[in-house]
Amino acid sequence: MNPTHQPVALSRTIERLVAGQDTSDGAGVKLKRVLTQNLQHRLDPFLMLDAFGSDKADDYIAGFPDHPHRGFETVTYMIAGRMLHRDSAGHEGLLQNGGVQWMTAGKGVIHSEIPQQEEGVMEGFQLWLNLHSSQKMQAPWYRDFQNDQLPQFKTPLGVAVTVIAGASHGVQGAVTRDITQPIYLDVHLPQDTRFEQTLPAGHNAFVYVYRGEVAISGQAVPVQRMAILANTPQADGVVIEASADAKLILVAGQPLREPIVQYGPFVMNTKEEIYQALADFRDGRLGESA
Ligand code: MN
Repeated sequence: MNPTHQPVALSRTIERLVAGQDTSDGAGVKLKRVLTQNLQHRLDPFLMLDAFGSDKADDYIAGFPDHPHRGFETVTYMIAGRMLHRDSAGHEGLLQNGGVQWMTAGKGVIHSEIPQQEEGVMEGFQLWLNLHSSQKMQAPWYRDFQNDQLPQFKTPLGVAVTVIAGASHGVQGAVTRDITQPIYLDVHLPQDTRFEQTLPAGHNAFVYVYRGEVAISGQAVPVQRMAILANTPQADGVVIEASADAKLILVAGQPLREPIVQYGPFVMNTKEEIYQALADFRDGRLGESA
């Protein structure tokens, strides 16, 4: 794809760096929860970001057996490894090496995510994107994108960009969403390069560095750190500089500014809606195809 240069006049600065918390989920998959529940309002419409990466099978082999979701979208970006997805809406897909699975749980999905390897590296991210109250009970939706189906481009400086969602330098991503308007980029910067991304001033935005180190407005972002970008009203984007090879994801979206009530895998607007989700799951109504 041919990008059009879209320069940034004034970069956002870093509001704070976040290290994340080591935890485990599913049947015992070790991961780093980077976007934790206490940041859900600050980073609205994003609810969670997990980073997983290990070459020890014990850290991932158990996977995520059948579990429900309601009220939001999950976006899984598999940098390395193989994971099989199956859900109650009848979808099945193998997620592997650079592929993305985008699942809109809507009114309810029961699914499993099981590793298809017994050794080697498993690395990637799972991002949770909230749905507007008017869409939380919509029908589930699901797409798998193999790596070569994801729009990618290179800047004149040699920065390689994969556009998972939204748009970058005129290149439309694999997925767009009207209300939350997510931008989700994987950016690989060779040594001594920079990358500029325009961002609407109202979008909440963050960067997570998974190789090397970058600088934003003169402040370093070390590896395995999330930088929350300040919502500076005059800033029209972010400028990222790399003095050595670096890889990161850049995520931004339009906040929903609605109440967030989370109980585990359910994210709704009120407690009553959570009780309903629990009752529907208990009674086998969550994940029905009708
Ligand atoms: Mn899940």
